[in-house]
Amino acid sequence: METIVIATGNKHKVSEIKEMLAPFIQGRYKLVSMREAGFTGSIEETGETFEENAFIKAETVCRATGRITLADDSGLCVDALGGRPGVYSARYGGLDSDDEQISLLLSELKDVPEEKRAARFVAVFCAVFPDGKRISARGECEGSILFERRGFDDFGYDPVFYYGPAGKTFAEMTQSEKCAVSHRGKAVRKFAEVFFAKK
Ligand code: IMP
Repeated sequence: METIVIATGNKHKVSEIKEMLAPFIQGRYKLVSMREAGFTGSIEETGETFEENAFIKAETVCRATGRITLADDSGLCVDALGGRPGVYSARYGGLDSDDEQISLLLSELKDVPEEKRAARFVAVFCAVFPDGKRISARGECEGSILFERRGFDDFGYDPVFYYGPAGKTFAEMTQSEKCAVSHRGKAVRKFAEVFFAKK
């Protein structure tokens, strides 16, 4: 069985990606995180777009492990903030903790009325092969930023990202409900149609 590496240290992403790829994998491949593949280095996300950063992560880990490597780069783009934090979502305000980042976001938006709080999550999912071949796909999910947290999930901005069609925040949805409509879900499914068709 061929091993495929996921280039992320984020346990939520690994869990979501494994669930979303399961129907395509069907026992043909073994999916492992970069830590399980023995990659212990750090990766500098120096790109200015989600695409660039996704390929930087996948290429770095592919080179180190010699395995086909998948990566995603994602973030939250808020209209009232001119698209920020965008590619800097993981480092918003120089803060590390999800909770502090949410507090900063809510304080930056405190005077923005409900109808102007539109935001979207964006994800680019890619693969880099040992021979240098690359594939990528992009997914977006439209929503809005609430005035306070709702739900118990502890992944990033999920507790304040309200997804209108479900009437819930991402943190109030099960992982399966979220993956069915999320930016990452859309990117991974689009990606999988190309990746697994070629294999
Ligand atoms: P990166 O893709 O590792 O650069 O990190 C993207 C950052 O965007 C994460 O650390 C989260 O703060 C945020 N983010 C991306 N996708 C999601 C999501 O599905 N839910 C909540 N936050 C997310």
